[in-house]
Amino acid sequence: MEWPPRYPDNFTPSPDQEYWSPELETMPPVDRDRHILAKLQHQVRYAFQNSGFYQEFYKDAPVDPGNLKDLEEFAKLPILTKEDIRREQEEHPPYGRFLCIEPEDIFRLHGTSGTTGRPTVFGIGKDDWDRIAEAHARILWGAGLRRDDTVMVAAVFSLYVGSWGALVGAERLGATSFPFGSGAPGQTERAVEWATMVKPTVLYGTPSYALYLAETARQMGVDPKEDFDFRFMYFSGEPGASVPATRRLIEETFGCYIVDQGTMAEMTPWMSASGCRHLDGGMHLWQDIVYTEMVDPQSKLNLPLGEEGVPVYSHTERTSQPMIRYWSGDIARWDMVDCPCGRTYPTLVTGIYGRVDDMIIVRGQNVFPSRIEDVLRSLDEFGGEFRLVLERETGQMDRLTVQAEVLNEAFAAQEFDPAALEPVRERFTAALRRAIGVSVAVELKPAGEFERTQFKARRIIDLRKP
Ligand SMILES: [Zn+2]
Repeated sequence: MEWPPRYPDNFTPSPDQEYWSPELETMPPVDRDRHILAKLQHQVRYAFQNSGFYQEFYKDAPVDPGNLKDLEEFAKLPILTKEDIRREQEEHPPYGRFLCIEPEDIFRLHGTSGTTGRPTVFGIGKDDWDRIAEAHARILWGAGLRRDDTVMVAAVFSLYVGSWGALVGAERLGATSFPFGSGAPGQTERAVEWATMVKPTVLYGTPSYALYLAETARQMGVDPKEDFDFRFMYFSGEPGASVPATRRLIEETFGCYIVDQGTMAEMTPWMSASGCRHLDGGMHLWQDIVYTEMVDPQSKLNLPLGEEGVPVYSHTERTSQPMIRYWSGDIARWDMVDCPCGRTYPTLVTGIYGRVDDMIIVRGQNVFPSRIEDVLRSLDEFGGEFRLVLERETGQMDRLTVQAEVLNEAFAAQEFDPAALEPVRERFTAALRRAIGVSVAVELKPAGEFERTQFKARRIIDLRKP
């Protein structure tokens, strides 16, 4: 096997083809495991030989990183966490000893913003960036992107690798790219004007952004379905694209289909988890690009298909700063699904529905914010945004209050009057209790109460004392 793989830089399938790489995408799973093992053997050996970090990290590994026999042996390598990266980069700034190429061969520098600690830094070589482009083009092809599409990338162009990854895939595929950005004052109004004027057929952003764009459009007298021309949207950064009610809402609002995508910035090509144009929610795991294991949150052992756990990701063709067995901290369930696309990959059936850290335990029940979002968006009176307020009751019990906006149409009085809305509040409470199995407090708020976001929504207000 040639490793790292080399891809022709000008190939595209003919437009009627379902697959970019028919052989890789429809391989029998047993053959794919063999193919992945061969790639991982090269990847791990390469990292072990070229990275001071992995030499130390694998010192006491129960298997020989230079000579892995099978995927079971691979699964015995230690799991890498965000904390490991932070510590390593603090001790050996800026890249840590992850870097396997000369610093002058770094083509792009990306990172995470470090809202919850020291920022992390990713150095990406030119070859790796080209392979990222290839992977994203191939996956976007599966999502339905074609050369005659115009892709509006409506996410911030900065350190955040999401927008750049979305852009480079569209560019490699040969579609028309429209790197619009987001986040500047007034930019969403300008997005409405541009989308009306140049009629992009595809949008990349977050689900929150799409909903905000629709709201802004309507305020400007623009109909998101009639006046825009979006054929499909691909999203990352939030669970919304696989939350059934959010998904339907966006699809109906714009008259398009949507594709859920995304692992983590560290794991770019982050599209390696992605739906296709047929899949109604969820994401296929394009295992030969980035290898995903599902791991038990407590025992850290691998879980079979059908189980819920934490995805652990490994690069299979990264020469600059490889991440091997990287703990995502997300929660998802994987299984084989019978998708009309015919791909033989396992699938995160309901996408990534939360972070292990976001899981709220209310009276012994595990509750994910995405589940609450699904319930609220299925209610007619729901006003579009919500917040989850967490407080600690006496003892160790957590109390959850759902603050939900109601549409103006839901109350006849001119003034917002919670007392008059009691029947609505009761309906919200009952729907939530049915869906999550326990009673939570519901407070209603007028529509527009909560700030809209152009990026990722932050909906949990944690008032618990540490
Ligand atoms: Zn599919």
